[in-house]
Formats: sequence, C-alpha cells, structure tokens
Amino acid sequence: MTIKTTTPSSNGIKVLLIYTGGTIGMLENPITKGLEVCDFAYVAEHVQEISQLPFGIDTLTFEPPCDSSDAGTDLWVQIAEMVTKYYDAYDGFVVLHGTDTMAYTASGLSFMFENLGKPIILTGSQVPIGKLRTDGKENLLTALEVAASKDNEGRAAVNEVCILFNNNLIRGNRATKVSADQFNAFQSPNYHNLAEIGIEIDFNQHSMLPHPTGPLTTHTKLDTNVLLLKLFPGLSPEVIDACFNAPGLRGIVLETFGSGNAPSNERFMKVVREAVARDIVIVNVTQCPQGKVQMERYETGRTLLSAGVLSGYDMTAEAAVAKLMYLLGLLEDSEQVKYYMGVNLRGEFSPC
Ligand code: ASP
Repeated sequence: MTIKTTTPSSNGIKVLLIYTGGTIGMLENPITKGLEVCDFAYVAEHVQEISQLPFGIDTLTFEPPCDSSDAGTDLWVQIAEMVTKYYDAYDGFVVLHGTDTMAYTASGLSFMFENLGKPIILTGSQVPIGKLRTDGKENLLTALEVAASKDNEGRAAVNEVCILFNNNLIRGNRATKVSADQFNAFQSPNYHNLAEIGIEIDFNQHSMLPHPTGPLTTHTKLDTNVLLLKLFPGLSPEVIDACFNAPGLRGIVLETFGSGNAPSNERFMKVVREAVARDIVIVNVTQCPQGKVQMERYETGRTLLSAGVLSGYDMTAEAAVAKLMYLLGLLEDSEQVKYYMGVNLRGEFSPC
C-alpha cells in the first residue's frame, strides 16, 4: 500500500484519506446489476472539489477494497496500524468505509486507540459517488473539513474516532446504523452529536473527550470469541444452551428487553449461571434503541444481576461487542475484564 499525494497543502495542514471500500466507491455490475467495489481513482474522479480545500490530502487505498459486510476485525487492525504508522505525519485521518458495519469498526477503533489526540473520521455513502443523487460527495468533503479543523489553541478540534454522516458528527462508539435506505443513516441514540453542522461547523467542545496527556498507544490484539445474542419470547433453551457452550467462548453481549430484563425461568438462569461460573463475561445491553439498562428495576432484571451479569448501561450493542473483544484481547484475567467493562474508557456510556 503506497501513499499518493492527491492535493498539496497551502496552509500546512495535512489529512490522510484511507479508502477501505463501501458503496461510496461502488459501480453497478452490468450483468447482475449488483453494486461492486472499485478503486479510489473512481471516487477521486467524481470529487474534483477536493482540490479547492486549503489543506493537503494524501490517499491510501486498501487492496482489494471491500464491502464492509465482508470486513472482520482484521480490517480494524489494518486501519489502526496505518493510522499509527502515519500518526505524526498528519493532522487528521478520514476513513472511507461501507455503512453496513461502520458502527462496529468505529467502536473497535475507539477502544484500540488509547490517548488519541487527532481525529479519525469514518464516512461513506448510501448512493455511489458516480450517481447523480449521491450523498458521498458531501459526506466526504465534510469529513475532510472536520479532520482538518483546529480549536482556538491550534489543537485538533476533534480527538476521537467519529462517524460523519449526513451532517451528523457522532462519537464512533455511540453510533448505530438506523436506516438501510435513508441518507440519515446513523444516529447516536444516547449521546449528543459532537458538532452542529450547517453553513458553519460548530464543534460541541464540552461534549468531546478531554485532550490526552500521554502518548498514543495502539492495541491491536482483539479476542473475537464473543457472542451477541438478542433475546425474544420463545427463544428455545436448547439454542441458548448450544450458543453459551460454544467452544472457546469468553464473552457474551445479551440484548435484553426494556431496562435489562430477561426470562427468569430456572432453565434459562441455569445456563447463565453456568456460563458465569466458567468465567464467561456476560454484558447486558437493552434492545431498545434508546435508554439504559437498570437491572435493579424489575425482578426479571435482578435475577440476571444476582447471577453475575454485568450492566452495559446505555452502550450500543456494537460498542459492547467491540469493548469485550478489546478487553478480552488485552487482559487474561476475566475479573479484570469485568472490572473494566464497568469503567467508561472512551465515552462509550453515560455515567449513572
Ligand atoms: N454493503 C455496503 C457496505 O457496507 C453498504 C454501504 O456502504 O452503504 O460496504
């Protein structure tokens, strides 16, 4: 992978644009009519406006670019390694990524970077850049502007992993994809957006993470022996049993009802207690799009709490999965993993 200079800098600021794939750079297959990824030259050709930006842009294309539904955590690691390699050389980073799993990648990266002092802005589009009504051009240009922005003291205006989509600047580990076909595809159900974006870009500095005091550390060891299970009435105990007893499993994110409630029947609870006894870390997040887990509220939640299930507070399922992978990769001792699941590491949940 080689870096290409796309536009030179006239104000000394430089942004690295990393193209991983996604709809933004897709073309229609003439035979199947399905959308397929193609190279960055195609994207660049359609956004000639970037040459009018005062800061410099260099580009890096992942080979081959992918549909983000094909992406695994190896893509997160690749992005993290590239950002780390070029961290000192750029003021900010924009990652072009498919929308389908963008919230997972953004969550994963948010945990992988400790003491991040520069913006990493993920964006993409719902309509390919070559189509007349594309949202890709505006998303890309705004993401680049955000990545190049400075505060009054000359520091990065944003020092977080974020998603920029349809003029919403969202903390990466608070984002979730809410629409398969609207331009307003991402929301942050439990946290404010990080900027008001209209004619001007007004950053909500009070909502941002504090600037780091230590050097950047990148953690690339992730443990993917994790399960995300959404409960529903009628979910068979045999299926739960099989899932919870999967070989190698170390962590479970349980998407429960309402404020963190689950069936309290003995068959279900026995499986949960046995998993906890085998040192499997179980985290409770709500399947409601908004709000937080409060297991003390109902008897059906209390039973989970007493079995050793942890609260995921108002974390998205994406953030909970990514945080578990990160902590299980970092720490051998499941007691420590449990402790840090309850610590707000990167602004991923709201303090109670
Ligand atoms: N399937 C595409 C992807 O995630 C969808 C998109 O980019 O909007 O790569």
